[in-house]
Amino acid sequence: MYLTFLCVHTADIFAQLIYAPGGPVRDFEGTEVADTFPVRVENTGIKMDSAFGLAKVCLNLSHDRISDLKVELLAPDGTRIWLTNRNGGLDGRNYPGTCFRSNGFSGYIRDGAAPFMGEYIPDGRLDFINNGQPADGTWNVLVSDLRSVESGTLHSIYLYFEADPNPESRHSPCRFDNSAGCETGDHRTGDMLPDLVLLTSITTRNLHYYPENHPEFPSQIRFAASIANFGYGPIETFGKNEWYCNTQRVSGPDEKCGDGSYPRQQLYQRIYRKVNGADTLSYFDRPAGTNYFDDKPGHYHYHVDDWVSIELYRQKKILGLFRKRTLIAKGSKVSYCLFDSGICQPHDNLCLDIHGKIPALVNYGLGNYVACDARKQGISVGGYDTYG
Ligand SMILES: [Zn+2]
Repeated sequence: MYLTFLCVHTADIFAQLIYAPGGPVRDFEGTEVADTFPVRVENTGIKMDSAFGLAKVCLNLSHDRISDLKVELLAPDGTRIWLTNRNGGLDGRNYPGTCFRSNGFSGYIRDGAAPFMGEYIPDGRLDFINNGQPADGTWNVLVSDLRSVESGTLHSIYLYFEADPNPESRHSPCRFDNSAGCETGDHRTGDMLPDLVLLTSITTRNLHYYPENHPEFPSQIRFAASIANFGYGPIETFGKNEWYCNTQRVSGPDEKCGDGSYPRQQLYQRIYRKVNGADTLSYFDRPAGTNYFDDKPGHYHYHVDDWVSIELYRQKKILGLFRKRTLIAKGSKVSYCLFDSGICQPHDNLCLDIHGKIPALVNYGLGNYVACDARKQGISVGGYDTYG
């Protein structure tokens, strides 16, 4: 039995995740033949419509030339949609946990480039599936290899059933290769700067104080900090493979320093710029700190140094009027991996500016940061990065 349920309590309804394994994807042998991978959905009782239904499909597929492939989803009632058809160009390899959603944050899959990591708008329309049919039944993922030489393997399929499954796309036409679709915040220079905002509601919700006698966390305050980007461009840190132990240049990230620590890589902030008459966005780099390999359990990836500093204040009212703040504790600076761990959605009441208003996010989705790599990290326009 290859069926797993993960039920997540939301406000009043169960979101459901269904998993199925895939299998080998055969090479093209003169005629189009789809390999069919069934996904059994049982006992959910879900009737799929615009209020609740199929919201997201994720695939993990290895193939050395994915532009050979057409991948379709076949619903129990026979509705068939394209997830991706011959995308990825000549060099694109693998769908490494690629997800498809009606308002995919990374934009249309046909406009994207491999590796397709993140959430994309499929080549077909997921909302066609949420047509009133029951979710229970046999679904199929169909993979057709349309060109010979390469074959591959579909490793896993995930179907997500959620409330509001096909929200209106907030996708902006702004892309690195379509500067005409972008707006700049500075018409003189064309610079598209990020604007980083602490999402206070996430910190407030996740703030816990533990008393002196707490067995695990005595006298601790534990919380989360989430930083969103409300600006015109992504915050992007970029490394050029320049590694140092203090001021001494070393060969790479794995050559440990004399004191046993990992070397630091010089980072640059890449600032995108809209230049009149140019089709693609240009950019310039400025020095901006360092990153390093963090080998602590649960991390094992690269952290951008000195991302957050934390201070604790006591606030007193004087004569019931004036507030006086006194610094009572100060933490050391904390290093983060920068990536889009969350995405601002129009009605999530999470991404609000200091006036409690929903920001415009005119270049929504510009950037694509999904991993904690040494070379490139960042937060997209409309993305946020949360650390507990
Ligand atoms: Zn980390």
